[in-house]
Amino acid sequence: MRILFLGTAASEGWPAVFCQCRNCERAREIGGKNIRTRSSVIINSDLKIDLPPDTYHHKISYDVDLAKIDFLLITHSHQDHFYPEELNMRAEPFAKLKNGKFLTVYGNEKVHEKLLNVLTKKTLESSVRIKVVEPFKSFRMGQYLVTPLLADHDKNEQCLIYVISDGERMILYGHDSGWFPEETWNRLAGFKLDLVIFDCTNGPSPEIRYHMGIEGVLRAKEEMVKMGVASNDTIFIATHFSHNGGLLHEELEGKLKPENVHVAYDGMIIDIPPR
Ligand SMILES: [Zn+2]
Ligand SMILES: [Zn+2]
Ligand SMILES: [Zn+2]
Repeated sequence: MRILFLGTAASEGWPAVFCQCRNCERAREIGGKNIRTRSSVIINSDLKIDLPPDTYHHKISYDVDLAKIDFLLITHSHQDHFYPEELNMRAEPFAKLKNGKFLTVYGNEKVHEKLLNVLTKKTLESSVRIKVVEPFKSFRMGQYLVTPLLADHDKNEQCLIYVISDGERMILYGHDSGWFPEETWNRLAGFKLDLVIFDCTNGPSPEIRYHMGIEGVLRAKEEMVKMGVASNDTIFIATHFSHNGGLLHEELEGKLKPENVHVAYDGMIIDIPPR
């Protein structure tokens, strides 16, 4: 399984769109891994998670062929994860596709509602299908088996995190989320994860509701190992960083690397070899 991190920032990006704070200025000065766009990953070459407003930038920065994406999983409808208007660009006359395959978008009720509001008749008839998913109800999509779990995030919708298996390896895409709800922990107990991606928006703050920070990530990691959901071989990754957390890439690494947690950056690729 291959995972490409397209973006690793919280909703405002880092440097943030309109911000002049010291942390944004430091990121601009140092550049490199400190420049973070809105969060998304591509798994193998056919599965994408979330559709942030920076998707076009991701396409041209990493030479990604988005026409090869068959499955799009949406975690929740916040603007940094979901810019549904973009999907109209997948239909004629905006896109000429060689294989004529549909893209299927999976998401909660709110995502479904927003898609129906913005997708044109043409897009729905020729290019994009929608499937509503519910927490704790596993489903198949191509070679993948996916289990949506409930996050601790915006209470106005069922925000989801996903356990995804490609038949070889199993990962948890764990954001946006604060400390996982009890029912999510209970369901996680049945899995053996090869890789876990955690929400680290709050940086050095101990707050673990709505989003987590370093402390929450380390506690959640410890809990997973204790439960046997993860082991010493499991790869742990923190992402979705905010300028309000203040720690630049190297400073985050200073805190997380000794604890065996990778700090994600835009363009990072993780290859997990088959068993
Ligand atoms: Zn977010
Ligand atoms: Zn800022
Ligand atoms: Zn969110």
